[in-house]
Amino acid sequence: MVWYEWVRHHPRQVAWVTPRSGLVVAGYVYGVCKMRATVCLTFDFDAISLWIGPLGATSPSMISRGEFGPVGVERILKLLDREGIPATFFVPGHTADTYPESVRAIVAAGHEVGHHGYLHENPVSLASREEERAILERGLAALERVTGTRPVGYRSPAWDNSPHTIGLLLEYGFRYESSLMGHDFLPYWCRVGDVIRPDGPYEFGTSVDLVELPVSWILDDFPHFEYLRVGNRVSPGLSAPSKVEEIWHDEFGFMYREIAGGTFTLTMHPQVIGRGHRMLLLERLIAHFKSHEGVRFTTLATAAEEFRMSSQ
Ligand SMILES: [Zn+2]
Repeated sequence: MVWYEWVRHHPRQVAWVTPRSGLVVAGYVYGVCKMRATVCLTFDFDAISLWIGPLGATSPSMISRGEFGPVGVERILKLLDREGIPATFFVPGHTADTYPESVRAIVAAGHEVGHHGYLHENPVSLASREEERAILERGLAALERVTGTRPVGYRSPAWDNSPHTIGLLLEYGFRYESSLMGHDFLPYWCRVGDVIRPDGPYEFGTSVDLVELPVSWILDDFPHFEYLRVGNRVSPGLSAPSKVEEIWHDEFGFMYREIAGGTFTLTMHPQVIGRGHRMLLLERLIAHFKSHEGVRFTTLATAAEEFRMSSQ
């Protein structure tokens, strides 16, 4: 799958090798060297889970905001198909159970599906490691039931890993996760065993066999666009696309100029980016990325495996 996807997007680099010859690796390394930047479009398909889970909504009106999720997915799939771009969708188990047809359409279009909790539970809010394990298993079961495959990637709801999250992901065989912010454009290895010391330097734990594909609130459509008023919490959102376009252009521009082989991971939500004027923004962004030489689009799973290979 990984090779297939890479070869599909870099036919020239591997035209002279075959898997049987063993020269694919040489072709791959050659291709990686030629790449200037990677763009990973990621979509968190929270749908209704976000509203009835962490936000505790019971009103049909609030819940209907999540119902817009599958409408956004349909528009996004059409755009990605037109542009020939593979993407990653993080799907809570509740979304897979509620909208199995939308999730199957994502898989049928060749995109990656990753784990995103069951009812969009923030791991930090859970009482114990065992409760986090139970939710991890519930989400896995739902995704396997609907997609027929086991996800290799995880993104924690609210990007808030608990002290148990990395250990559990290793235990369940995940290959990468995408919730931390220790870099902006370069993948790195996750750690376990960090020690927080208020009276001395921070103690970094041990690197483990799990790739981090870092994220950023700057590169997330939700805080920019989504108006939210829950209890005392107000998130104004509703930015003009032109403002967000300026921020995202310059983040990409800096990476393209300064970070050789950088990975630009953009996080979007179908219920947010799927609105008409924001879909036009996404269209313009894709055209902007494509106008740069040496830029290609991959799933996070592919980016994680490439990082593994380059680290060996
Ligand atoms: Zn989410």
